[in-house]
Amino acid sequence: MYDYDLLVVGSANADLVIGVERRPGAGETVLGSDLAVHPGGKGANQAVAAARLGADTALLARVGDDVHGRMLLHSLRAAGVDTVGVLVGGAPTGVALITVDPSGDNSIVVSPGANSRLAPEDIRAAGSLFHASRVVSAQLEIPLETVVEVVRCMAPESRLVLNPSPPRPLPREVLDACDPLIVNEHEARVVLGDACVSDLPEDWARLLLAKGPRSVVVTLGARGALVASAAGVFRVASVEVEAVDTTGAGDAFTAALAWRLGTGADLPEAASYAARVGAAAVTKRGAQESYPTAGEVEAL
Ligand code: ADP
Repeated sequence: MYDYDLLVVGSANADLVIGVERRPGAGETVLGSDLAVHPGGKGANQAVAAARLGADTALLARVGDDVHGRMLLHSLRAAGVDTVGVLVGGAPTGVALITVDPSGDNSIVVSPGANSRLAPEDIRAAGSLFHASRVVSAQLEIPLETVVEVVRCMAPESRLVLNPSPPRPLPREVLDACDPLIVNEHEARVVLGDACVSDLPEDWARLLLAKGPRSVVVTLGARGALVASAAGVFRVASVEVEAVDTTGAGDAFTAALAWRLGTGADLPEAASYAARVGAAAVTKRGAQESYPTAGEVEAL
């Protein structure tokens, strides 16, 4: 028996957002709107998305011993995420400083802070969480060597879902463990590197599969997604919605897919459910604030 449907290993950030008439140039100061502080980071986003859908979810992450860390712990617990694996201290909480102009264009500075201190030894020390979780989901806003340690600490029968974001080339040991590797178009190109010899997403899916993962999912925004495995490449339709804000859609998609795989769905079924969750997430502003409950997904 597993204690958790899903263990997410990843980042937690405070997103500090200020609206401006015009983004400042070098050496310039501009006045902006009141500050808005939102919980973010791909790890925390995924954990909240899964918990809102009803998954028993734990997060393994690191935040600072500061006001942003406490805000993140509070928002995770309020969403129903088990924070027993959220370590505190070592560096300030990760922060994204975001300015947004009236056209919606933004400039972002990220300070990874405590996320960059989530170390391989933290993963080893959390061994029992890995044995208690059916599916493990990771991203790359934490050090790559920490993700490698996740692969080494996973229980043999549990399944790794990896979204390599922000993208970089991946070692074979990590690629071989992914089931699936989930990429958007930009991530597909970066992970493929020199092997990206085509502009067709179907080809990216096949080429990525040849790099070692047992399965691959390529998300295509409003065009849905492709799933690829030894059984072939299949297209998963999107749901037509009025998109208001696509922030965090990929995180909602990945969390939903990981959870459904753990409940026994096959990959096309899980991806099709995840596409509905991703579509629901783009109909509202924000990332975590936009994530649907299972009932809202049914109603879509
Ligand atoms: P990312 O946010 O990582 O760039 P995508 O933009 O590909 O990822 O979005 C992830 C998933 O969310 C898509 O596969 C799709 O299912 C859903 N989605 C994203 N944008 C839309 C949209 N405009 N309409 C409907 N579904 C969407």
